[in-house]
Amino acid sequence: MPAKGVRSIMSATVTRTQNADVVVAGGGVIGTAIAWRAAAAGLDVILVDPQAREGASLVAAGMLAPVSEALFGEDALLRLNLLAVRRFPDFAAELEELTGQRVGLRREGTLAVAHDAGDHAALLRLVTFRRSLGLDADELDGPECRALEPFLAPDVRGGALFAGDWSVDNRRYLTALRQAAAGAGVRAVRGRVTGVLARGGRACGVQLDAPEPGGIGGRPSIGCDTVVVAAGCWSGEIAGLPEPLTTAIRPVKGQLLRLRVPGGMPPVLSRSVRATVRGAEVYLVPRADGEMVVGATSEERGRDRTVTAGAVHDLLHDAMSVLPVTSELTLAETCAGLRPGTPDNGPLAGVTGLDGLLAATGHFRNGILLSAVTADAVAAWLTGHPAEAEWAPFAPARFTAGVRS
Ligand SMILES: Cc1cc2nc3c(=O)[nH]c(=O)nc-3n(C[C@H](O)[C@H](O)[C@H](O)COP(=O)(O)OP(=O)(O)OC[C@H]3O[C@@H](n4cnc5c(N)ncnc54)[C@H](O)[C@@H]3O)c2cc1C
Repeated sequence: MPAKGVRSIMSATVTRTQNADVVVAGGGVIGTAIAWRAAAAGLDVILVDPQAREGASLVAAGMLAPVSEALFGEDALLRLNLLAVRRFPDFAAELEELTGQRVGLRREGTLAVAHDAGDHAALLRLVTFRRSLGLDADELDGPECRALEPFLAPDVRGGALFAGDWSVDNRRYLTALRQAAAGAGVRAVRGRVTGVLARGGRACGVQLDAPEPGGIGGRPSIGCDTVVVAAGCWSGEIAGLPEPLTTAIRPVKGQLLRLRVPGGMPPVLSRSVRATVRGAEVYLVPRADGEMVVGATSEERGRDRTVTAGAVHDLLHDAMSVLPVTSELTLAETCAGLRPGTPDNGPLAGVTGLDGLLAATGHFRNGILLSAVTADAVAAWLTGHPAEAEWAPFAPARFTAGVRS
């Protein structure tokens, strides 16, 4: 049954090519997960995406890492990330059962390692901080690190095991989400949402960039009760959005490498490793199929997505400093993606200044981790229910009302 209050505003009639209860703009992990859960809740959903393979979701490393991502001053985000990692296994299991696809969930934890004495001192400060938050963080000396990961360099000074961190193969995960969404009846439309249509002070549809088959007068549009903006770092480009959607989201470039363990060679890591090498951060995320992801830069360069020689050099250099066997792996892919960043590094999720318009964007460096709980929250809002209390600090209004989490 469609939600009360979602159906009830279906009165506005503009000339439309299609109608739906909900239009989701953006088909990355966030938009696709929302579309699936909303359709599973009984809503008629259209998912619009240009399918240009430009989203961050295809680039990401797939870490589900609330512990090793816990930083000073981000307590509300930590609470949300912990909710997200608790929810992920059931969400992934349902997805795997529905689609028959494996999404590569791994639960071995993250081993953080330090290369020199300064790196070790910085890591120990983080261990103390994370323990003060009640998180599991076991301090290890160099030999203990190498007992867990025998290919680590002999000069790794020490480290810490964060058992509460997991990972998923984000590409397989997105493929499964798309299949589940289609299976639940989500209609996928190829195109770019150029604007949100409003009537009587509330959203009533979207405008698209290219004519759809059956479009009227070359101005294709889709009428709906609720629009969900989930277009990652491009969210602010859609015309007709209220503040803070137009200004709070910025792209944060991340360059990353995909390596492959050659056939016949044993796996070189059994868990994610995050290393600090002379103050620089690098992570290495293994997959069961022999892939190893090495990332990532964090750069403020607008929408530039070029891969630079310097970034490839630095990532490989730092990876080889802690895991020398990296030099024997195949360099399978170099890529760059744009994280949807916000001023306080937290997502923007919930009602906006325009009735009938929901935001689900700004997931910055945690969008894979947060995808399941974001989908749950948006499906709850769409069907007239509250979301978990952990979402309260991430309402878009915090940037317009002067309230910061
Ligand atoms: C290098 C790197 C490593 C990362 N590692 C991790 C990690 O380990 N763990 C983690 O949790 N997160 C990680 N992230 C962050 C994560 O990738 C993002 O937070 C997440 O992918 C955001 O998902 P999204 O669906 O909001 O955006 P995107 O994946 O960017 O998808 C947005 C979609 O919107 C579409 N779109 C754009 N404009 C429009 C429009 N006008 N109309 C309709 N559709 C539109 C695009 O085509 C795209 O498909 C990483 C990111 C990067 C770049």
